[in-house]
Amino acid sequence: METVDVVVIGAGVVGLACASALAEAGREVLIVEREHCIGSGISSRNSEVIHAGLYYPPGSLKARLCVEGRQRLYAYCAQRGVAHARCGKLVVASREAQLDALQEIAGRARQNGVDDLRLLDRAEIAELEPALDAEAGLLSPSTGIVDSHGLMLALLGDAEDHGAMLALGSPVEGGAADGGGIVLEIGGKAPMTLRTRCVINAAGLDAVALSSAIRSAASAQAPQAHFARGVYFGYSGKAPFSRLIYPIPEPGGLGVHLTLDLGGQARFGPDVEWIVHPDYHVDPARAARFADAIRNWWPALDADRLQPGYAGVRPKIVGPGQADADFRIDGPARHGVAGLVHLYGIESPGLTASLAIGAHVAKLVSG
Ligand SMILES: Cc1cc2nc3c(=O)[nH]c(=O)nc-3n(C[C@H](O)[C@H](O)[C@H](O)COP(=O)(O)OP(=O)(O)OC[C@H]3O[C@@H](n4cnc5c(N)ncnc54)[C@H](O)[C@@H]3O)c2cc1C
Repeated sequence: METVDVVVIGAGVVGLACASALAEAGREVLIVEREHCIGSGISSRNSEVIHAGLYYPPGSLKARLCVEGRQRLYAYCAQRGVAHARCGKLVVASREAQLDALQEIAGRARQNGVDDLRLLDRAEIAELEPALDAEAGLLSPSTGIVDSHGLMLALLGDAEDHGAMLALGSPVEGGAADGGGIVLEIGGKAPMTLRTRCVINAAGLDAVALSSAIRSAASAQAPQAHFARGVYFGYSGKAPFSRLIYPIPEPGGLGVHLTLDLGGQARFGPDVEWIVHPDYHVDPARAARFADAIRNWWPALDADRLQPGYAGVRPKIVGPGQADADFRIDGPARHGVAGLVHLYGIESPGLTASLAIGAHVAKLVSG
């Protein structure tokens, strides 16, 4: 039987960041990815926003890893030449009744260590973004955007430079912890059985299912998987905004917002729709709901220019109507299985937090 020190399951941004951190720490790393390319899961179906860390409960993993991850990510992108822009974002209150919610976000952000927010009144907003109709807003100068594929290629390059290997078309089908390590069954064209000291389950939407397939004491602690789809609509032509524009968050997501890609093209979304199995269908009829939501803060929207875009699916670990959950990164201290880490519920801000998650995971299995 082949043996390897560490197996990282999943070559999305989180698995690649873990692989790179572990390889740099001197571990022998094999990344196994079910698909035939890297980053085709959640990591290629998101808003590509570098979040500042405004929303998350103080002290939560989401708050800590987002703020740390954002700082690491800007430095990493600059150093490795990954395309990104610190374009800033406005969170807007379109009605007076939302002013308290805006203050609440500002207070929470301060507790999370985000100390560069500015509260703007109607006139100040009009000066920055004349097309915007809002009572008040919060300007977050350290929010930005990143080329997520460029980031993943850089992370893979770093991991490989430190000796890591990538096996594509290699689905993990099962396994078990047996006291002497973890045995994994890998399918695909060249099936193999591997013995390893350490498994990092970064399988995104499949992480919960995989934690049952890899039998161990940790399997019983797995949360229930839920899925929330978010669709995007593109905008033909140029939208009159130079910053990202967000409404006050809604249950399950951040509300239909406007993000820009690195070419300055606008897209709207994602919304929140609870689904039973992940699928990426975009129903063009949702455009009407998008238009209503967008007109709350951009009354002059030309709805005919909204074009169905793409969809992403959030790997939720709580269901509809329940309070948002934190990231769950279950290591040996939680479940007692040496060398095993399951990453559950790595939804937004997982892209922003990826480098901090990688460093955190490497620590959980060091020694
Ligand atoms: C709609 C949406 C918008 C978002 N917007 C943002 C944002 O703007 N900013 C931000 O910071 N975050 C955002 N996020 C969150 C961010 O995209 C994710 O947290 C991040 O991409 C998760 O990466 P991952 O590596 O965990 O998962 P994935 O990218 O899904 O990678 C998991 C990989 O595991 C592989 N895999 C699965 N099962 C197996 C198996 N059995 N064997 C081998 N391989 C397997 C999959 O093929 C996949 O490649 C958003 C998420 C969504 C859904």
